[in-house]
Amino acid sequence: MQADTEAFESNQAPKAPEGTGARKPVALEPRRLVQVILAALTATVASAAMSMFDGGWQTALQLGASAGLLLLAWWYTRRNAVDRAAKLMLATLTLSMISLVYQHQGLRDEALCAFPAIMVFAGMFASRRAFFTMLSVIVAALCIITLANLQGWHVNQVPPVSLNSLFNVVAILMVTAFFVWLMAGDLRSALARLEAENERIRESHARIDTLAHHDALTGLPNRLLARDRFEQMIAHARRSHTSAALLYLDLDDFKSVNDSLGHAAGDLLLCDVADRLTHAVRSTDTVSRQGGDEFLIVMGDLVDDQAAAATASKIIDQLARPFYINGLELSATCSLGIALFPEDGDDFDALLKSADMAMYRAKDSGRNGFRFYDVEMNTSVIEHLHLISGIRAALARGEFALHYQPQYHLKTGRIVGAEALIRWRHPELGFIPPAKFIPVAERSGLIHEVGAWVLNEACGQAKRWQNAGLSDLTVAVNLSPIQFRRDDIEREVMNALASWNLSPSSIELELTESLLIADSHHLRGLLVRLRALGIRLSIDDFGTGYSNLGYLKRFEVERLKIDQSFVRRLTENANDEGIVRAIIEMAHSLKLEAVAEGIENEATLARLIELGCEFGQGFLWAPALPADEFFNFATDGEAADGVAG
Ligand code: C2E
Ligand code: MG
Ligand code: MG
Repeated sequence: MQADTEAFESNQAPKAPEGTGARKPVALEPRRLVQVILAALTATVASAAMSMFDGGWQTALQLGASAGLLLLAWWYTRRNAVDRAAKLMLATLTLSMISLVYQHQGLRDEALCAFPAIMVFAGMFASRRAFFTMLSVIVAALCIITLANLQGWHVNQVPPVSLNSLFNVVAILMVTAFFVWLMAGDLRSALARLEAENERIRESHARIDTLAHHDALTGLPNRLLARDRFEQMIAHARRSHTSAALLYLDLDDFKSVNDSLGHAAGDLLLCDVADRLTHAVRSTDTVSRQGGDEFLIVMGDLVDDQAAAATASKIIDQLARPFYINGLELSATCSLGIALFPEDGDDFDALLKSADMAMYRAKDSGRNGFRFYDVEMNTSVIEHLHLISGIRAALARGEFALHYQPQYHLKTGRIVGAEALIRWRHPELGFIPPAKFIPVAERSGLIHEVGAWVLNEACGQAKRWQNAGLSDLTVAVNLSPIQFRRDDIEREVMNALASWNLSPSSIELELTESLLIADSHHLRGLLVRLRALGIRLSIDDFGTGYSNLGYLKRFEVERLKIDQSFVRRLTENANDEGIVRAIIEMAHSLKLEAVAEGIENEATLARLIELGCEFGQGFLWAPALPADEFFNFATDGEAADGVAG
């Protein structure tokens, strides 16, 4: 029974494998079948009545039986047995028509008109096998009738045309017309549905295509599409012997916009930047977003390098104009790297790498500018990779050492502390300055291991000096902001202190402004805990980072270390003196102590004392010294107290 409740064709369709082109019948709605059965029933009953009226009892009886079977088919539809109902209706109509043709006028009988309608119905809704079976039955029956006539076994008489024959033809025509009208309506709406569906599919394909090839935030082409366009451009440049360029753009300091104004404002800024970039290039060039604050510009048909340089300058100018985001005026600068085809690479990936390197070089040389790629940059990348493996090896082979620069109380000239500064003597390359390898260690993550080594070594040295009689000395340790990205910095400090049994007040941690500006709740808690232990905190290189000083009030730092770039020319440059004076005054108003770095001469020292600066360090006294030299230096200085200055 379950099978019967399914649509007529679903049981009947031949199970041809997909892709063989097997014909699938159209789904037959039960409502449609009921309409067709009722129309056929009406015509059959009317014809039966007409035959009875004409005295054709045998015909009337046969049509009555057909009507009964059609009623049964209708009843099946009420029971949801659509398949059985359709088969019964088709079989009833076919056999009943064959019987009428045989009994009455043979191949000239009006009942023949019904066969095309029956075949159309079967053709649309029945399986292929049912269709051909019915066709064969009809053709066979007609052949037999013809043979019977020819052989004289059963000769059909053709009576003159009567009203009855007109009625039969009209009835068949009406049923057929009704049926064809219904089917045509169904077909038309099916076609309309199909067209709407096609339209939807076309639209969704277009949407998928857009999503796959465009950046969701700015709507610009993404890297995939940029690569595609660039490859087309390269192909064109090869044919026409012109050159092409790939510009790699990175916004300067975009992170601070995100950190201070939130990601929504950052997104708005990126959209505005995308807009300006699109307007700054030719319509044949492609601007694409690589992700984050990085953009690519693909330029073809270049006459010379200057065209790429001109576009880069134009972009820098365009971005220099203020942006207005959420009522705030923001400025954005960018660094650009330019790689040229064919000089700097002959495929997209090679050029992307070159442009990326050139962009980093532009950043290193002060940002807000552009750089063309040159081969030396590649050498410096290789050097960078060597440095990474060198740092790893240096840790394992113990090539690092700490040197200590004395820190003085300026008024009394007493040594109050020592700043631990890392030194690396490479077995082949010789002395490598921290400014060269610390950034590499930071970028590669090795700073965690290097930093842990420094902490431990500095604590050990502080303890050894204390044991040797230098008891009031504070050892300052530089910490990289990267070291705070992992949660274990607090534990590392504690472990280093514990393993040397050193009191927390014997060390000072030098933090950078950039660490504090990022101001996370987590960081604030961490610094409060370190301070509570008695560890001193200072801000290194103060004055070089940010003009927003709000963070100073929020963190429990104790000292500001004025950057040496202001201190060195203090007595020669009025601006520098102004800055140093302002920093000292601000430090005091916030109840912080000031430490001047880079004191190189007596005049500077004297001016700093006048300005009220409490502490200082510099080549005037000593550079950073190996631990034993420092000890001798400090103990000699101790003996000649006050003379050191
Ligand atoms: P910094 O922390 O500001 O260290 C002071 C730098 O100024 C040192 O350079 C020091 O040798 C130099 N200096 C001191 N007095 C004078 C002076 O009178 N005139 C001049 N021109 N320079 C002076 P150094 O040792 O090359 O260190 C450079 C930077 O490397 C340090 O700057 C610090 O940021 C970083 N660094 C050094 N050691 C470490 C470390 O152990 N960990 C971390 N994370 N960074 C370190
Ligand atoms: Mg320092
Ligand atoms: Mg410094």
